[in-house]
This record gives sequence, structure tokens and C-alpha cells, in this order.
Amino acid sequence: MKGSDTKEYPAVWLQAAGCTGCSVSVLNATNPAIENLLIDEVLPGKHINLRFHPTIMAGSGAPVIEVMEATSRHEKGGYILIVEGAIPTAKNGIHGVVGERNGKPVTMLSRVEELAKDALVIIALGTCAAFGGIPAAHPNPTQCAGMTDILQTRGINIPIVNIPGCPPHPTWFVGTVASILLSGLPKPGDLDEYGRPKAFYGQLIHENCPRRAYYDEAKFAKKFTDGGCLYELGCKGPVTYSDCPLRLWNNGVNWCIGNGSPCIGCTEPGFPDEVSPFYEKTTAVLPEIPKGDSG
Ligand code: SF4
Ligand code: SF4
Repeated sequence: MKGSDTKEYPAVWLQAAGCTGCSVSVLNATNPAIENLLIDEVLPGKHINLRFHPTIMAGSGAPVIEVMEATSRHEKGGYILIVEGAIPTAKNGIHGVVGERNGKPVTMLSRVEELAKDALVIIALGTCAAFGGIPAAHPNPTQCAGMTDILQTRGINIPIVNIPGCPPHPTWFVGTVASILLSGLPKPGDLDEYGRPKAFYGQLIHENCPRRAYYDEAKFAKKFTDGGCLYELGCKGPVTYSDCPLRLWNNGVNWCIGNGSPCIGCTEPGFPDEVSPFYEKTTAVLPEIPKGDSG
């Protein structure tokens, strides 16, 4: 529980163009559980005060919009902005709105511009928020964009951490928040070229895959129920960075390849267009494929 000298970190969680799956994934956090993350101290003396989350907050309407706006007014430079979903930019962003001001809808684009410029740090949660993801897939009629693009094109120079995944693993989010509270903002060497924490996205799936020996021996599955490497069934593990094979999902129960499904590259900036078709052999440049029996 919180003590009287606990430092509060206000947080605003904005949901833009997405499916809410990233929120659902984070709600499945187990260590700590989400209720402990939100109610107790994340670390001794440090507490996240989640002030706005469209799906899980009890309130609605104008009062909660006021709470969100008051946070950016009164906590300049001190709050965490978590963005879930991509940002529609076509037609000045009118394809996605969050609340109203003076009886007129306020676009998600305006909200992120207003909230981002005064944040302590921005966490782009999920591939849509980080890179555009599925809402930005071809032909992208709403011209959805990820937060890095939004910040760069608008000259907003606030630190951003990308936590991609469709959805992201809850520990990638909780661990990133805990790291910021414990050690401060990430140093340049802590993030990869796409702004992802190397602690979670530092290695290719292919490097740690339990089916890797099959790949090296060119023993490829021909159908999903086969054993063997899933490369010829479309696995994007050789071009995808994340620790899924080591961390596993659903509290360590299983993961995509463990369940016989190829990795579809959901943590990569080019997801989904550049890793499609999901179930066809990738044409990306791969580690050398061994010669030999492919049966
Ligand atoms: S191609 Fe996929 S299934 Fe095969 S070893 Fe690499 S990551 Fe594992
Ligand atoms: S194994 Fe691949 S598709 Fe599955 S969650 Fe990890 S990165 Fe995403």
C-alpha cells in the first residue's frame, strides 16, 4: 500500500485507432498483477496514478475529459502519456475523436499533440501506437501513423519508448514502467533503432527458438501439425525481435511457435504489410538456409 511519502506519477492512457487488445493484454499482467500496479506502489515509494483510461475508468463524459486535460495543465513535464492505437491524420484527424470541447469533437490527433508536448515520457504501447500497425496497413485510407511519426512531423521533442506487439506482452509494459520509475528515462543505448527497449527486443526470435535445431538441419514442417521448423509455413522469427521464446505468454503457459503457429512478426515496424502474407515463406533477407534434406 501507499505511504504518506509516496511519490505519485500521474498517467494518462489514450486509446486511439486500435482494438483495445493492448489494454486487455496489460490487464493480464501477473507479476505484479494489474490491481497491484494501479493500487499499490510499483516500487517502494513510487506509485502510478492512472487518471484516464477510456476502458477501465469508472467515470465517463465531460468530467473525465476534464481530468485528462487538467493533468496536462497542472502536471507539465511530470506525467506519463501512454498511447494505444494509431493516430488518424487524414482530413485533420477527423476519423478519430476523443471527447468534445465547446460542443465540437476533439480529434485523437489534437489530443496527442496537446498531451505529448508536456509529458515526462511517452509510451507507445502496441505496434499500432509505435509504428502505425494494422490501422496504417495498405491502403490506409485514414492515413494512420505511429507516435514516432507524429512527434517527428510536429517537432515534439519528448522522450518516447516504443513497446510494440500485437498485442505487446504485459511484462514488456510493466517492466518498462518500472525501469523508468527506478532508473529514470531510458538512455540512448537502452533502446534499439526503433525505440524498443533492448531488454525485451534485443534478440531475434530465431536465436532463441526451440525449433532452431530443425532449421539448422533444414527439417521444415509442411503443415501446421508437423514438428520441425515453421519457416516454410511463413514463420517471421528470423526477422523479428522479441523475447517471446524465453518469456512465453499467458503467465508462462505457451507462445505462438510453441503452439504450432508461425511467428507473424507482430513486433516489427513493417507489421502487417511487410510481413504479409503471414503464412507464406518470407522474402526478407534471412540467415543462410542450410542445404540438405528439406523433408
Ligand atoms: S524459422 Fe521460426 S520456427 Fe524456424 S527456427 Fe526460426 S523462429 Fe523457430
Ligand atoms: S512470437 Fe512473433 S507473432 Fe507471436 S507474439 Fe511473439 S513476436 Fe508476435
